[in-house]
Amino acid sequence: MMIPVSVFVTKAGSLQCGGVCSKGSFRWSILLQNLEAEITEKREDMGKDSYEAAIAGLGKLLSEKGDLEAVAAAKIEQITAELQSTDCKGFDPVERMKTGFIHFKKEKYEKNPALYSELAKGQSPKFMVFACSDSRVCPSHILDFQPGEAFMIRNIANMVPPYDQTKYSGVGAAIEYAVLHLKVENIVVIGHSCCGGIKGLMSIPDDGTTASEFIEHWVKICLPAKTKVKAEGSSLSFQEQCTNCEKEAVNVSLGNLLTYPFVKEGLMNKTLALKGGHYDFVKGSFELWGLGLGLSPSLSV
Ligand SMILES: [Zn+2]
Repeated sequence: MMIPVSVFVTKAGSLQCGGVCSKGSFRWSILLQNLEAEITEKREDMGKDSYEAAIAGLGKLLSEKGDLEAVAAAKIEQITAELQSTDCKGFDPVERMKTGFIHFKKEKYEKNPALYSELAKGQSPKFMVFACSDSRVCPSHILDFQPGEAFMIRNIANMVPPYDQTKYSGVGAAIEYAVLHLKVENIVVIGHSCCGGIKGLMSIPDDGTTASEFIEHWVKICLPAKTKVKAEGSSLSFQEQCTNCEKEAVNVSLGNLLTYPFVKEGLMNKTLALKGGHYDFVKGSFELWGLGLGLSPSLSV
């Protein structure tokens, strides 16, 4: 594909050849639009040589007109997005979100004016929920929480780190806000089956060496759960140990919640309750237990 260096479009939109546009940046912008159009048209039969020619031509343009880098960057981003959407067999992320929001607005927002007008004034959720970032375990879906019901933190392996104003200020701020300002009545930590974060924790070598930038360092928050599971179930399979660790890690998180003074105070005053849960999406079951009850479920569905 050749870069159409001799073609530009006037502001009126008609094609002209070889002229000189008084607005240089406008002209080069149009050239980039033409480049984009050609890529779109010839995407399927674009050969290696034409691709390289296009890239070389673009490089030449930019070296001659360095002040157009911002315009070029925007165009390249747009073209990249189009090509990515082609690579994903036509998946259009913008269209997906647009469709999703339209569905939500029509089926929920507009059908529940009382709820949404109330929520417009403020929130008073009864629950604070810790859940995994895993895309399969959204608490709003599995527990049918409606907007305004659950203040939520989602992270790798649904962990609550101990009180630390420097290392874990993000989590601390959320707990402080939920307990002291929203006055939630329950903090629930929900683990789940096949948790990759827990598998990662269980896979850390005994010498503690790590290979990831953040993940292993983060999941080590629940190292005591791993130690307990390994000690008590050394004859179990790795998979079974992971399942046990998914639940024990929840208990470690419940214990860590007690390191936050406002949480401890809420428990002592009986204005706050702590609960552990485990959602098994293979079996389609949910267990719930209270602090201090260990793994004996107070509810199993
Ligand atoms: Zn997980």
